[in-house]
Amino acid sequence: MNSIIGPTAKNSRNRLIKILLISILIVAVAYFVYITGGTKTVFAQLLYIPIILSSLFGGALLGLIVGVVCGILVGPFIPLDVSNGIMQDPVNWISRLLIFSLIGFATGYMIDRINKLNAERQERNLKSPFYDLPNAQKLLYDIEERIESGSNFKLLSIKLTNLQEIEKYVDNSLVFTIVENLAEKLGHCCGNDIYSHEKDEMILLVCENCQHGYEEKIKKVIEQYFAHPVSINGYKIRVSLKVGIYIHKGEVNTPIEIYNKARIAYEQGEVKESGIYYYDVNLENRRREIHDITGALLESIEKNELFVMYQPKIDIVNNKITGVEALVRWKRNGNELIGPNIFIPIAEEIGFINKVSKFVFDNVTSQMKTWQSKGMDLKCSINASVGEFADDSYILWAKDIITSKNLNRSDFEIEITERALAYNDRKLLDKMEFLKELGYQISIDDFGTGYNSLMSISEIPFDKMKIDKYFIDRINIIEIQELVKHFIEYAHAFDKIVIAEGVETKEQLDVLKRLKCDEVQGYYYSKPLLHEELEKFYVNFNKANM
Ligand code: C2E
Ligand code: MG
Ligand code: MG
Repeated sequence: MNSIIGPTAKNSRNRLIKILLISILIVAVAYFVYITGGTKTVFAQLLYIPIILSSLFGGALLGLIVGVVCGILVGPFIPLDVSNGIMQDPVNWISRLLIFSLIGFATGYMIDRINKLNAERQERNLKSPFYDLPNAQKLLYDIEERIESGSNFKLLSIKLTNLQEIEKYVDNSLVFTIVENLAEKLGHCCGNDIYSHEKDEMILLVCENCQHGYEEKIKKVIEQYFAHPVSINGYKIRVSLKVGIYIHKGEVNTPIEIYNKARIAYEQGEVKESGIYYYDVNLENRRREIHDITGALLESIEKNELFVMYQPKIDIVNNKITGVEALVRWKRNGNELIGPNIFIPIAEEIGFINKVSKFVFDNVTSQMKTWQSKGMDLKCSINASVGEFADDSYILWAKDIITSKNLNRSDFEIEITERALAYNDRKLLDKMEFLKELGYQISIDDFGTGYNSLMSISEIPFDKMKIDKYFIDRINIIEIQELVKHFIEYAHAFDKIVIAEGVETKEQLDVLKRLKCDEVQGYYYSKPLLHEELEKFYVNFNKANM
């Protein structure tokens, strides 16, 4: 284990200088006593100054030695009265020597005690409250020292991701054995600079060149802890841990920033998955962005920053607009446009998606009412996040909002991404079935990006299949073309409508027409539009295709 407080070369040099200065001071005072007439004057008492200073700097032993030296110097060597040559009575100077020594020793002893108590307190402050390891505070001091000495190093943060569960459900004392075992193993492969922060995190400070192959060794330890169960105190336990590594190469960072970078590194990967991850600045930026966005998102609706755009869908068989897809947008602070791909997952994570969906539904239904009053024949699809399906209220208000506005549910389509669908998720499929029974159309969005086989898709209730842009981008590749053909034939066999997403070129459109795709949506026809732009598009498109 690394010693927490240790004397450095700098300290011992300072000590030597102090001893030298004290020696000079003693000689100077003794000389002064001599030239001012001898020990009969009060100036002999000046020797208390070097005696007390030496016990301050050197403790009881040095205080005692200096006391004896001073006692002897102003003892038999200096007369009582220099001018008359009268020597001191030995009882006098020996008594003075004893008093000097006692004062030197006693002062030094007290200083030693105070220093010891301080060191113990400091040591306690720098130790983990859980394990026999130094804590993060000590780590920060050591990082600081390495930065100051200009050396490069690696910082490894090891997070035991299921330790709290083991503590809760298996045996709370087990965590100590696990961590101590692991610290011992890591100490063997990476050196002794191991620190602990919280119960489930260990940190290793590895110098740049002194640990060759440390990564391989750590992998081995992880393998041992993760791939195989470990037997501890009669339990067979699986410990999962993630290692985040930050390599410091002299960049300007404070110790706490360096430490945080190692901790940011292990946040990559799935929560429970073990592995070694290197610090990536993009991850840090993205996390920062997410935190920034999360707070602002909660106020976006009140601040009127959300709005809906509409992208037309074109029936390529009859050359007419069949409907639009409602796509939500967020203009943060009135100028910064943040895409739904960024804020929808955050809204899902923080439980704000219901509010966003209500906002979209509300806007879309009002817009549809207006369009219908203008005689525009359009259907509108709305994206839904599967998470909100778990909550029955979504289904209820989705039902009510249409009824209250006197609209027809069959004019609305609900898009659910294929990635969120599983043919055996009975609860979700029941909800989809219910929405269908209510009269909504159901689309499988981003088709081809999920994990469902064509066989299992037949278990899912839907009306439209939206082939993902990924396939349309690669539709000139013959294998992809075959696959898309297969999707279309399959959907048609079950009387489903097929729509291709992200169509940008005439070539893509021509292939899709040849493959008998029913509808397309994409920049080739139009980007998502504001409602007034959509109205113009509708009029112009219909005029051009009369
Ligand atoms: P999505 O439902 O698959 O929507 C299609 C996305 O592709 C839209 O991106 C659209 O602008 C874009 N797109 C359409 N045609 C083209 C094209 O030709 N080229 C290119 N490069 N892109 C095209 P957007 O609007 O950024 O939406 C992204 C995703 O965010 C949507 O994917 C959808 O999953 C989600 N989303 C959007 N609005 C909502 C909403 O109101 N609620 C929920 N839950 N999700 C939404
Ligand atoms: Mg969609
Ligand atoms: Mg899509």
